[in-house]
Amino acid sequence: MDFEYWWLLALPFFFGLGWVTARIDIGQLLTETSTLPASYFRGLNFLISEQPDKAIEAFTEALKADSNTLELHFALGSLFRRTGEMDRAIHLHQGLLERETLAEPQKLMALAELAQDYLKAGLFDRAEEIFIKLTETRYANSALRALLEIYVREKEWLQAIDVAQRLEALTGRPLRMEVAQFHCELAQQQILLGHVGPAHTNLAEALTANRTCVRANVMLGDIEAAAGNPAAALAAWRAIELQIPNYIELVAARAMASWRSLNKAEEGLLWLQEVVRKYHLEETAQVLFEATLDLKGPEAAYRMAHEEAEQSPTLAALDRLLQAKVSGMPDGDLRLVMDSIREHLEKTAFHRCATCGYTARQFHWHCPSCGEWETFPPHFERD
Ligand SMILES: [Zn+2]
Repeated sequence: MDFEYWWLLALPFFFGLGWVTARIDIGQLLTETSTLPASYFRGLNFLISEQPDKAIEAFTEALKADSNTLELHFALGSLFRRTGEMDRAIHLHQGLLERETLAEPQKLMALAELAQDYLKAGLFDRAEEIFIKLTETRYANSALRALLEIYVREKEWLQAIDVAQRLEALTGRPLRMEVAQFHCELAQQQILLGHVGPAHTNLAEALTANRTCVRANVMLGDIEAAAGNPAAALAAWRAIELQIPNYIELVAARAMASWRSLNKAEEGLLWLQEVVRKYHLEETAQVLFEATLDLKGPEAAYRMAHEEAEQSPTLAALDRLLQAKVSGMPDGDLRLVMDSIREHLEKTAFHRCATCGYTARQFHWHCPSCGEWETFPPHFERD
């Protein structure tokens, strides 16, 4: 490919153009800034050095000198919000909105700031009202995100679904995992009211929104098991293997109970063996062990536990080994050791949010700390 040499001649021209533009900008900046009070720059300095309280002081002083500087108002307003002085932030932005001389773009900006103040102050009704108006403006993106936050907090799942879909359309960023979770939340509300039919519909919608929504299958299985349909429950739970196999951890014990009630415990045992071997499921290994002990006796359970302890000598594996050893034996020292290991295992087990590190004894689909969805792994961690 030939190199276009004339470009070399064009380069100095572009450099020159850049230099001229820079000169103009600097010149403009100098005339503008020379009219600003010194306290404005002190405020900026405090901001840069992360001293928001002193920055507020300096900006307030600068405002006294020139109350027409809108940028100063906005800077001060967002500082108030950042430092948690919600009353002052709200008062300042309301004051701006009352100005009759305010141009339309600045009015919108003040409105957007006021809505953020209300949101942070926990005044969700007022925030919602403004954010709905802002969805038709250039603040649509941040307004929809704020609305989504409000609806999730208020557990208004239908509205959350609607807003998430609009946000998806606007930004192109997929939110199908969240939308499916919202459908599951709706199903949960229906289950609590005893409305199984509508719950089924919600869960089907969850799977349509996100075919790897494990929670929908967990819940479908639970509904079927509670209705006395163990075969249908198993069908839903086994579908998890085709989604994200690790989540079998959440249903292994319940699945085994369904197999038992179908008088197909042997089949259940084979399934447990297969999934533990294939996916190295730690919690399911315990379910498998207990089923083996029950169905095949202590010797088979001991062999299994021994093999497991040799391969990965964890405390849980050791616990199972002891359990096989003492089953059928009278209470003794070994049982005491086993009991204390068991207690330790239970006390130290927790789930950890992959996003924020929040830990909880209980599994959560929605992190109570950072508000992210599906960030808890299905297995326990131990100290
Ligand atoms: Zn979290």
